[in-house]
Amino acid sequence: MRRPLVAGNWKLNGSRSANQTLMQALVGPVSGLGKVDVAVCPPFVYLEQVAGLCRDGGIALGAQDVSDQDNGAFTGEVSGDMLREMGCTCVIVGHSERRTLYGEDDAFTARKFAAARRHGLTPILCVGELLEEREAGVTESVVARQLDAVLAVEGIEALSDAVIAYEPVWAIGTGRTATPEQAQAVHAFIRARLADRDPDVARKVRILYGGSVKADNAAELFAQPDIDGGLIGGASLKASDFLAICKAA
Ligand code: PEP
Repeated sequence: MRRPLVAGNWKLNGSRSANQTLMQALVGPVSGLGKVDVAVCPPFVYLEQVAGLCRDGGIALGAQDVSDQDNGAFTGEVSGDMLREMGCTCVIVGHSERRTLYGEDDAFTARKFAAARRHGLTPILCVGELLEEREAGVTESVVARQLDAVLAVEGIEALSDAVIAYEPVWAIGTGRTATPEQAQAVHAFIRARLADRDPDVARKVRILYGGSVKADNAAELFAQPDIDGGLIGGASLKASDFLAICKAA
């Protein structure tokens, strides 16, 4: 009943020629998949190029970040309106690399989430705990705090057309994946927390898993009842790996 979504986060990678090669290898096979939504999120400067390469290929275009502001004196920022104009339909918000490397806190992330929605973009809200937080047994309270910051600004209805990505920080780019059971437990916690506010929203919202998803571990993660696809970093840069992950969803 929830259509799976696999989104590729290219991070700070790509070039005009590499993007062309990757997208040409993806477009035909992805259009034949049918049962899964697929998106790619290149760096801002390549959005226009990749939008052209996505055309009619059944691949949605997303950005990796969005400004909390709409326009004005905010050097270096890119607004939701600009992303829409480039052809984006979704945007990653609150990725752990933004939170930990650039000091973006829960309140700032909530404002970015609101900006995405204001401009008609589907936010992919990333939540997840650090290794020390998992070891201290506070995973659920960290994830709850991150979710509640968005709910406080936007309300539960805002989640009805959003996507959540649970990404344990210790699993991102480390090759260390959460076990399907560990991931499912947090996904179920997130869904139950949303169900307390609105069971219908909780039933419908897609919750992706992210953190070292590879071609050989995707199927068992995606088989979990509350895992609705994945947010894929490193493995989204190689067409054969990304396609295998899309097929597993
Ligand atoms: C990510 O950047 O969101 C991610 C999950 O990265 P990786 O798949 O490389 O761990």
